[in-house]
Amino acid sequence: MQLLEERIRRDGIVKPGNVLKVDGFLNHQMDVDLFNEMGKELRRLFPSEQINKILTIEASGIGIACIAAQYFHVPVVFAKKSQSINLDGEQYVTRIESFTHKRVYDVIVSKKYLGADDHVLIIDDFLANGCAVAGLIDLVENAGATVEGVGIAIEKGFQEGGRTLRNKGVRVESLAIVEAMNDETGEITFRSQKE
Ligand code: 5GP
Repeated sequence: MQLLEERIRRDGIVKPGNVLKVDGFLNHQMDVDLFNEMGKELRRLFPSEQINKILTIEASGIGIACIAAQYFHVPVVFAKKSQSINLDGEQYVTRIESFTHKRVYDVIVSKKYLGADDHVLIIDDFLANGCAVAGLIDLVENAGATVEGVGIAIEKGFQEGGRTLRNKGVRVESLAIVEAMNDETGEITFRSQKE
């Protein structure tokens, strides 16, 4: 998506350790007009009428998921990062290793909001090693629900998450795929995609 690539080139900051900072428009301050275009594009990429729920993870996925949901007319459920798991059987639980924070945490979704009849589109801001998305898929599968696809704002194509998921047959669509980035020069190269 050209608009997003241009914005990443203009305002993204490449940090050491393969981290792309996009706090100015995506992860801290949010450019809602840009999100709106991203939401429209995600709907175009996932036209399935079967999708009846969007699943994301707090915090950075929520904004994009909510704006996209206006084009799908479906509810958004966000997986909560939890300190203390309530072991009453009322929640689906999975473990996710955070790429940016380098720690493992539990995430939960109430069984009230995810069930066997659901056809779920997973949305997140970044796809890096794929742990966050793998955790969300695990929650959907635990619920007996169906993963219709994964919609990502920015995929870091040089990390293995996207390849691993696609090799498993998961439909992954990323609005921008960073092929390479250099924290010394700030240069960012995108994978060309059919629009
Ligand atoms: P993964 O689980 O795919 O390794 O990483 C995905 C999660 O880590 C995303 O939800 C995102 O919050 C965070 N993340 C991964 N890489 C980056 C990055 O380069 N920049 C930012 N801002 N977040 C990232």
